[in-house]
Amino acid sequence: MNNDCLFCEISAGSIPSDKVYESDTLFAFNDINPQAPTHILIVPRAHHATLLDVEETDHEVMGSIITVGNQLAKERGLDKSGYRLVVNCGEGAGQSVFHIHFHLLGGRPMQWPPG
Ligand code: 5GP
Ligand code: ZN
Repeated sequence: MNNDCLFCEISAGSIPSDKVYESDTLFAFNDINPQAPTHILIVPRAHHATLLDVEETDHEVMGSIITVGNQLAKERGLDKSGYRLVVNCGEGAGQSVFHIHFHLLGGRPMQWPPG
């Protein structure tokens, strides 16, 4: 837990969020500023600032993010329409909260490449 970290505080429950999934190792909640009809953040509880900080010991929880993402997508019918699971790594890629999180986006047509 990093006391200066928004997502560590959301994980601990000291800042409220609209949670849609929780386990011992990760949690997911609706983004406060949604960029699509479904915009969920899937977040490992362990504090790592960016994707570059992931180590071999984190592989299991990082892998389970894909499984949880699949489950949340299926519950919302996004397995049929398609969805994105996106990580912004670093300021230059648009990262603004420095605790790793995956954006699950869906429910509207998507363009490629992203901006
Ligand atoms: P990033 O820009 O780091 O990839 O994504 C950070 C995301 O966190 C943004 O989509 C932003 O809307 C979301 N966010 C920032 N603060 C809060 C908050 O207090 N609550 C929730 N639910 N989402 C937040
Ligand atoms: Zn954190």
